[in-house]
Amino acid sequence: MDKSWIESDDRALTIYMSGVQSFLDFMLSGKESEGPNDDTKKFFRLMEEAEVELYPGCKNFSKLLFIVRLLQEKVINGWTDKSVDKLLNSFSLVLPEGSRVPASYYEAKKITEDLGFTSQKIDACPNNCMLFRDEDNLRETFEICGASRYRDRDRNISAKHMKSFPLKPRLQKLFMSSKTASLMR
Ligand SMILES: [Zn+2]
Repeated sequence: MDKSWIESDDRALTIYMSGVQSFLDFMLSGKESEGPNDDTKKFFRLMEEAEVELYPGCKNFSKLLFIVRLLQEKVINGWTDKSVDKLLNSFSLVLPEGSRVPASYYEAKKITEDLGFTSQKIDACPNNCMLFRDEDNLRETFEICGASRYRDRDRNISAKHMKSFPLKPRLQKLFMSSKTASLMR
């Protein structure tokens, strides 16, 4: 798959999207070795349904990556649910027949939730140098550029945030006793 789309102006979004892509590659490459656990099977069926090309002949985006990116942009830019519905409607009008663009924001969100990507807010640097991860939770400034994490420290308002879809809890449950789980630690 051509990954040139990963090159974007927004460093935090770039890091996040390339993380999601590596994760998907990792998951899909390891699925043959996993046992016939029903929960695991269901997860891979949903994942395969979502990992189809966005429209016939599309080389850059799977349906799932499109949705993940769209939901990120929604949060970063403060788009309303209704504006996402309108945007998706426009996509469905301009893309070739057979496209898999979700019909609505609700449908897009449901696909990520069915996969167990329960969304969570994470803080991002206003200058896009980095994202806060779990282990950074006590930090108040960004390591790379030194910007403050908070716009209003007293009211705990972040300078910028993104929505993240942490996959680890769900996967640890699926692969509790397998080699895959130990690789993810
Ligand atoms: Zn920064």
